[in-house]
Amino acid sequence: MRILIIEDELRVANAIKRSLETKDYMINIESNSNRGLLKALNQPYDLLILDLMLPGSYTGKDITKILRNKGVNMPILMLTALGDVEDRIAGLRLGADDYLVKPFSMRELIARTQVLLRRPQNLISSILKVGNLELNSDTFEVKRKKINIQLSGREYKMLRYLMYNHDQIISKEQIINHVWDEDTLIMPNTVEVYIGYLRKKIDKNFPNEPKLIHTAFGFGYMIGLVNSDV
Ligand code: CA
Repeated sequence: MRILIIEDELRVANAIKRSLETKDYMINIESNSNRGLLKALNQPYDLLILDLMLPGSYTGKDITKILRNKGVNMPILMLTALGDVEDRIAGLRLGADDYLVKPFSMRELIARTQVLLRRPQNLISSILKVGNLELNSDTFEVKRKKINIQLSGREYKMLRYLMYNHDQIISKEQIINHVWDEDTLIMPNTVEVYIGYLRKKIDKNFPNEPKLIHTAFGFGYMIGLVNSDV
């Protein structure tokens, strides 16, 4: 499950990120409303955690309205200050699903996040498919042609990230940011090593199947069904 946090108080955003990562969600943070809106529009997130007052051209209310008008239906959890009753009501009317009043406990945040993500329209994202490769993010099972593939925790996280973003070229930096803690110093060639492990398990062990993991030389990697390297 991928969650986008649009929040300019980085202390709050990072605390949310750390709490949700303990539940194995993948988190992106944007502090600026313009960049946040672009990400929410263009990337497949399962949930948006949205602050009301943001730097840039938009408020949280504006972002909610624009997303709903464009048919983006991921759940939105608004973060509001204590006095913002009118804003909160307006946000819910515009299509936000729930709100939390700052300061909130991380346990409450996790509970509400889990409720929002359990709604039926989001169930589809618990099984990711690329060709005949399947990853079930509820059971952590990975299968190709219905055959179980054993992955280490790191390999699993990397594969899940690539599959969430299938048919898009993903840079090594993006992989590092999503698969390792931000405090860990990771060299780009570590990514190559792990891609090598995944290639063996996903592609080389299935020699009669189409290759799924592709290298975009100088850019990064992509998972998808294409005829040759991109
Ligand atoms: Ca703010």
